Amino acid sequence: MIKGKPTILKTLYTYFLGITTGELMPELAENKYSHSEQFGKNAKKIKELYIQYRGKIKLTENITLKEIYYEIIGQRKNSITVEEKNEEIEFTNIWTKVAGIKNNIHGEFLYQIIPRAVLTREKQIDRGIRGIDPQCKYCNRQFETFQHLFIDCKELKMFRTYVIQNGQSEDPNFEISKKLLLLVDIKTELIPIIYGYTHTVWACRHFEDTLNLYKLQMKYHKDKEIYRKYNKNKN
Ligand SMILES: [Zn+2]
Repeated sequence: MIKGKPTILKTLYTYFLGITTGELMPELAENKYSHSEQFGKNAKKIKELYIQYRGKIKLTENITLKEIYYEIIGQRKNSITVEEKNEEIEFTNIWTKVAGIKNNIHGEFLYQIIPRAVLTREKQIDRGIRGIDPQCKYCNRQFETFQHLFIDCKELKMFRTYVIQNGQSEDPNFEISKKLLLLVDIKTELIPIIYGYTHTVWACRHFEDTLNLYKLQMKYHKDKEIYRKYNKNKN
């Protein structure tokens, strides 16, 4: 029996061990203690996790404990970094650019946008967070993925067109694309626009009121100006 502080990893291990033993050697698996006694409040959670993932995890395979754990928290899928996925892109310049953003809050937000690290509903579900409505708040039809939210959502098409026209006054080739949101080879003058756009889409998805184009546009200009104000002389 594993002793010590029951970290998730340890409790899971113990739990899986119990289940496996129970299935293979029922006579040996006669537990003296029930799981709830062993793990207290965590017992219910672990049991739910096990039930939810038992189909996905094949205990007879040569699988490591770490792999089981990553499977459950959805880490494996996210562990492919944005750099691995986009090998043709030189990321050093991008990270340097973001690191140079004067205002920490703005910098951190963009730092999450580039590796698609913002916690979209899809990502929250992947990580095992329960009670999440996976639907995009704007269209209520598609899953809220990064790609859907910032690039594809039909309900945001007019807003994107507006931002694109706005951005084209700085750069005639301005488009809202996957590449743009990776901040690849962009002019520094475009950063406030990208911040304004992504932050507006991100923040307004929490609003309960019905959103119209006008409100999104106002928020976008406000965010863009705030960015410019707090990042003067640098970006
Ligand atoms: Zn949508």
